[in-house]
Amino acid sequence: MGRYATNRNRLWPRSADGTVQVPYTLSPGYSNEYQKLLITAMQEFESLTCVSFIKRTAEVNYLNIISSDGCLSYVGQIGGAQPVRLLAPGCMARGIIQHELNHALGFLHENSRSDRDNYITVNYRNVKPGMENNFDIQDGTTLDLPYDYSSVMHYDKFAFTINPNLPTISTIPNPNVQVGQRDGLSVLDVEKINKLYNCDVSSRLFNTPSGRFSSANYPNSYPDNMNYVFLIRTPDGQVALTFNDFDLQSSPECTSDYIRIYDGPSRRAPILLNNTCGPAQIPTVIGSTNQMLMEFVSDGAISSKGFSASYNTVPCGGTFFTATYNITSPGYISGSYFPNLNCYFTIYAPTGYKVINYHISKEPIESALYCYADSLFVYGGGEEYESHTYTFCGTGLISMTSSGNKMLLNFQTDGINQRKGFRLTYTICK
Ligand SMILES: [Zn+2]
Repeated sequence: MGRYATNRNRLWPRSADGTVQVPYTLSPGYSNEYQKLLITAMQEFESLTCVSFIKRTAEVNYLNIISSDGCLSYVGQIGGAQPVRLLAPGCMARGIIQHELNHALGFLHENSRSDRDNYITVNYRNVKPGMENNFDIQDGTTLDLPYDYSSVMHYDKFAFTINPNLPTISTIPNPNVQVGQRDGLSVLDVEKINKLYNCDVSSRLFNTPSGRFSSANYPNSYPDNMNYVFLIRTPDGQVALTFNDFDLQSSPECTSDYIRIYDGPSRRAPILLNNTCGPAQIPTVIGSTNQMLMEFVSDGAISSKGFSASYNTVPCGGTFFTATYNITSPGYISGSYFPNLNCYFTIYAPTGYKVINYHISKEPIESALYCYADSLFVYGGGEEYESHTYTFCGTGLISMTSSGNKMLLNFQTDGINQRKGFRLTYTICK
């Protein structure tokens, strides 16, 4: 939340290709898990804007991200090794990380905008004595974009309060508007970065639990020469993306027009669904996290009607298109699955291939007569409630070959007696 200075004119320089590269170093004090969180928080900037955070090699000006003394950053580039303080574990949330990085890009708090008195009232009598200057109006420019209550740069209602029951900020005219979210960049935060840095990118962020979107001009032809990025970040759970309609120009290997889906917030994440084009029936794609990126690319000629899609949030499950993978039940690594799960895992092999799965479980699924307590249903035909089915609980071996090119797993647990769960490997074959 903190900041060292208030100069918005210290922007990071643009490269010849129009991108803005901000070098950084990460202090070795961060665990692997926190490093991953820091990096995926940075990758959202790279996916949605022309700003990217790159590992420092020899650059003179860079962010020195360190775990010490609270959550704090200078505003804009100040030159040399400039500290961004992100104390672990206190500051290890995507929204807090992005908040401080956004300071480093030159952004002040949303509630310090010149027009903020039209949107909020600061209750100075509730502000800790000596802290009043945190509520000063400091930002002369609004970038001609709307005031954003949902900005990751907005204070929460109790910032610097003398008493946790007394708000320092009231929203007007509607006192019930939420402020202070730290889930991550908002749609307008992204727009503001793109405007401040003059980015020429085509991107859209979806940050609600569910929603729908379609290609430009749908159901009429989409434009040529597009390189569009859709980033879905649900507040929690895992993203499930379903295409209701899909038709892109067909080409060999889908190199002309295509969509490609990544299991994470960036093109550096593992590919979930590789280049797909033509008229296609695409199965629901479930990512392993709450972030999923979809690229939509078109070449200079021949387009088609495009796609319409919807997404929602699921608590567990996955969709797998790779040739082999280890699928684990939720919580497997921490030692126990969760109560009341109903997870779907679908494995797709290319047409003409079959899926073979193989599982040895020493750390079991709760054992019960007919597996009525917790169970893993394996559907070799790829659809629920069909005959080629195996129901599993307890310990032992599962091995099944699909009848077609897909296999469906459904893992259901009840409210009591959780065990470690399953780890299952599959391969594909002719
Ligand atoms: Zn701040």
